[in-house]
Amino acid sequence: MTPTRPLPTYLARRYHGWKATTHRENEAWYRRLAEEGQRPREMIITCCDSRVHVTSMFGSDSDELFIHRNIAALVPRFGPDGKHHATSSAIEYAVTSLRVSHVIVLGHSFCGGVRSCYDMCAGHAPELEEKSSFVGRWLDILRPGYDSLPEGLSGDAALRALERQAVLVSLENLMSFPMVRGAVEEGAVTLHGLWADIAGGGLESYDSDQLRFVPV
Ligand SMILES: [Zn+2]
Repeated sequence: MTPTRPLPTYLARRYHGWKATTHRENEAWYRRLAEEGQRPREMIITCCDSRVHVTSMFGSDSDELFIHRNIAALVPRFGPDGKHHATSSAIEYAVTSLRVSHVIVLGHSFCGGVRSCYDMCAGHAPELEEKSSFVGRWLDILRPGYDSLPEGLSGDAALRALERQAVLVSLENLMSFPMVRGAVEEGAVTLHGLWADIAGGGLESYDSDQLRFVPV
């Protein structure tokens, strides 16, 4: 039997507070959500990082955002090989079943995943090169982003650039999914690439006409 323990007290207390206030005040609405199912218009693919507070940033209520989180907000290329693919399955479900109108990739500053990819590609993290490293193999998705960094860039500037490259690699890989490409070409889905500045609260959006990120 897998050993489990009761929820930490502070989390249980917060839950009961939510149940007694937010949930109680919106009981009918929650019941309707349960009966009618979810109808989010946006899928957001973002980092697991606890500082990227998506629902707070976009003021979202339940039922508005279909959120998928992974290390560094990466999207792999379409690869139907019969294995387990959490991110690809979430994308397939959002686009073909939920029929979302927008797929948003949200990267962020000081991303630990992006930094690890940078270190790995620069030869400073041999442990991530191991076949047994789930993190390392996941971050392989971003190697093309590292390879495309401008010559001579280093330190924080290189990391900020690679964070934005991660968004671009993910957008490009999204288009390798036939269901995404089809929906985009039909005009049923629009893609968006965002980068959030954790410290300053800024948000940038990729402009594919100007080929650069611009403030939102
Ligand atoms: Zn991150």
